[in-house]
Order: sequence, then structure tokens, then C-alpha cells
Amino acid sequence: MARAVMTPDDVRAAADRLDGAPAEDVLTWAAEQFAGRLVLTCSWQQQSSVLIHMTRPHADAVRVVELDTELLFPETYATRDRLVERYGLTLESFRAEHTPAQQEAAEGPALWERDPDRCCFLRKVLPLERALEGSDAWITGIRRAQSATREGARAVEWDEARGIVKVQPLVAWSDEDVKGYLFAHDIPYNPLHDQGYPSIGCVPCTSPVAPGDDPRSGRWTGTAKTECGLHLPRAA
Ligand code: SF4
Repeated sequence: MARAVMTPDDVRAAADRLDGAPAEDVLTWAAEQFAGRLVLTCSWQQQSSVLIHMTRPHADAVRVVELDTELLFPETYATRDRLVERYGLTLESFRAEHTPAQQEAAEGPALWERDPDRCCFLRKVLPLERALEGSDAWITGIRRAQSATREGARAVEWDEARGIVKVQPLVAWSDEDVKGYLFAHDIPYNPLHDQGYPSIGCVPCTSPVAPGDDPRSGRWTGTAKTECGLHLPRAA
């Protein structure tokens, strides 16, 4: 098949068509447009569970990858294993060049406390760049309801920094939409979501959140950091 080339204008036109469309329709469009060059990145939060289930009809078109910082919660790894087993996933894992112990030897202890941006760059951003090599589009679980920084997210965006299309089928979903879909389809999901963790990342940088507080306020608590660097400012 000839390689489809989308310009930022094409992406904006697609976003105008697909914003508000059912998530399944967004995925069908992406699978047809980018078959074989489409990556689903999984953090094993509840959005990952939804998207794993929803992409199974397009399994041949979508690579499933995880960015394993090697610092995730045991519950997160257990959720991954349950999803891999239930759906028979062929999962590609991408990790940092150094293990956490090697990172401590090279950078000093608890880099996440002293320089979380560098820690995320080493353990998330660089592995993502390798995961996306050779792909034209990237499916994420971004939702507008997750935080103020994500309020402007669209179903399809042009990632200017990486030169790749971002596909965000759940962009308009509420927390209730996610929970309803998980229960309706009996999909395994991360149990930490039921223990005060609306947003789940690495153990050193994730705290529970009081009911009613900003769902992402438990990430990098006490610092100005709100994003790990995977989701850079959007150009479309
Ligand atoms: Fe490091 Fe924390 Fe970022 Fe994980 S979330 S990569 S521990 S700074």
C-alpha cells in the first residue's frame, strides 16, 4: 500500500470531521489511514484498558507498546499481565537505556526528586521516540476531562515536535464514560483507580487524590510539573 502522507492541514480537517464522532469511528479511520504504521501506547491506566479492547477489531493494523519505566506500581504490572493474557496481546516493551540502579549510579539517587524532567526524559520520552520509529500515527488515551492542560485536546492532532499524527479517540469521554465502558465489557483495569488514584504513573511520583481535587494533582505533588513530556504542546 502506498504510504499516506498527511499534512498539518489534512490533520486539522480530519479533526474537524472526527471531533465528536464515536471513539470506534475514530479508530476505524486511523486503522484504515495508517494500517501497519499505527502505535497504541499503554500506561496501563483505565484508558489503556478501554483502548486495548476497542482496538482488537483492528489488531492487524495496530502495534501495542508500553513505556516501562521499571518504576511502576505492582498493580500496574498486574493489570498489564491480565490484559495481555485476556486479549492475547503481542506487546512490545520499551525501557530506558539504564535500569533504575544504573541510573542511580550514573546520575545520583532519586533523580525524580532533584530533576524530574530529566528523569522523565530518560525513562519515558527517549523510549517513546524509539517506540514511534517508523510509524505515522500514535493512539493515546488523552481526555479533555483529565486536566486543564488537556482541555484543548482534539480527536486527531499533529504532533509538530515528532512529525506524527496523534489519534485520541477518548478525548471527549468523562470519567463516567470510561467506567461505564469498562463495566459493560467486563474489561480488566488498574485497581488503583478505586483506591484514590485517578491518574497513575511511577511509584515515586504518584500520590492518591482527595475526592473532588484535580485528578492529576497526585502526579509530581509539590512541584510545578504536570506532564511527563510525552504530550508536548499541540500544533493542530
Ligand atoms: Fe522518573 Fe517520576 Fe518521571 Fe517516572 S514519573 S520517569 S520516576 S520523574
